[in-house]
Amino acid sequence: MTAPPNRVKAMRSLPSVERLALALGPPHELAVRAAREAIEARRDEIAAGADSPPNASGDEDALTDHARAILERLQRPSLRRVLNASGVIVHTGLGRAPLADGAADAVAVLAGGYSNLELDLEEGERGSRQSHVVAVLCDLTGARDALVVNNCAAAVVLAAASLAGGREVIVSRGQLVEIGGSFRMPDVVEASGARLIEVGTTNRTRVGDYSRAIGPETGAILRAHRSNFGLVGFAEDVEIEALCELGPPVIDDVGSGALDAGMPALASEPAARRSVAAGAALTCFSGDKLLGGPQAGILVGTAEAIEMARSHPLARALRIDKLSLTALEATLRLYREPARARAEIPVLRMLESPREVLERRAARLVGGLVAAGAGAEVVESSCMVGGGALPLLELEGPAVAVATGALRVEDAAARLRLGDPPVIARVRRGRLLLEVRTLAGSEVEEAGAAVARALEA
Ligand SMILES: *Cc1c(COP(=O)(O)O)cnc(C)c1O
Repeated sequence: MTAPPNRVKAMRSLPSVERLALALGPPHELAVRAAREAIEARRDEIAAGADSPPNASGDEDALTDHARAILERLQRPSLRRVLNASGVIVHTGLGRAPLADGAADAVAVLAGGYSNLELDLEEGERGSRQSHVVAVLCDLTGARDALVVNNCAAAVVLAAASLAGGREVIVSRGQLVEIGGSFRMPDVVEASGARLIEVGTTNRTRVGDYSRAIGPETGAILRAHRSNFGLVGFAEDVEIEALCELGPPVIDDVGSGALDAGMPALASEPAARRSVAAGAALTCFSGDKLLGGPQAGILVGTAEAIEMARSHPLARALRIDKLSLTALEATLRLYREPARARAEIPVLRMLESPREVLERRAARLVGGLVAAGAGAEVVESSCMVGGGALPLLELEGPAVAVATGALRVEDAAARLRLGDPPVIARVRRGRLLLEVRTLAGSEVEEAGAAVARALEA
């Protein structure tokens, strides 16, 4: 079978990749890729029977526009700012905790120049990057010493490797948790070079289960917080104080942890200060969950245990980078005044947003959407904290339901993701919801405009 003559003609009239790429301008390599993609798409259209006037200048203009749009997409940074209307406060897919303004400013100042990262300015000698956060961490938790690394997973591996490498680590079967992002307690212990000794059962572990397992090969007892699920009913765990009385060093992985004991919403998160006071050798927690800072893994504990972790060869491989450290120091400083921390750290502010604030935000968002021609109304909803923290806490409040017309809600949500800026909405019970708890007050107008644009496109 031969193609109809007008199709052949249309194919022949397509410009060469090279000519189209030159018309697009630099960078040439990406322009060639965009030109090839646009021409191939046009070929497919023609082959499928979409006849258009061969070589008409309108056709060539459309092809160039398409190629230019592809080039723009290829040139756009891959990592972009998005508006979080998902309602999940600590969303690992969206980079977990947004930084407080003060912390973001500190990063901006440090990022473009040199710093005293590892220089003792008083002595003029080589210093330690840890020196910038040790004092504040000790003050906030009551610990004797502290060490920060890349993330909490790294902190737990380093803790187990330095206290129990080559020996045994005792863990309750009820705490062999998977946190997500492939953090599985048995694998973490294995990666540290320690041997896992499981004790107790899924729902009940008692002091006697631990004490029977302790022997000459015991390196440490590891406790892991069940961050992302709850165990209710016939369940029993050993409190940190009792674990610390058993003798071997205790590693307490509190996950998100709570630094500010004053917030009711945080009541069910283990407080780092309590583990330290109980005598845990090392207490580990994340920087970018409920603490509200950058990705980081924080170890606080006894002088001896921290020294063992600090001098372990893995510590160098797991070390924190200077930008995260800068953001962490600035965030921790806010906790010296708990009221300020709650006012300025976005994660804490979102946890405690008063209903009136959310209602005003929702009303503003509806106003913006309706003015832009979209249908929207305020509805009642509830959000999760996310990020493996406070799994049982439901935060009730208003959200905005957006009318999607003939579009399926999933397709509408996809359009919002592909908009500029991308808006991450929530599909719940067949409706497209914009949760206002996770939008900053300053993002409401921008979100409304982006949603309206994406839906009318
Ligand atoms: C989240 C979590 C981790 C992992 O922390 P990252 O900072 O993501 O590495 C480890 N343990 C517990 C209990 C957690 O909740």
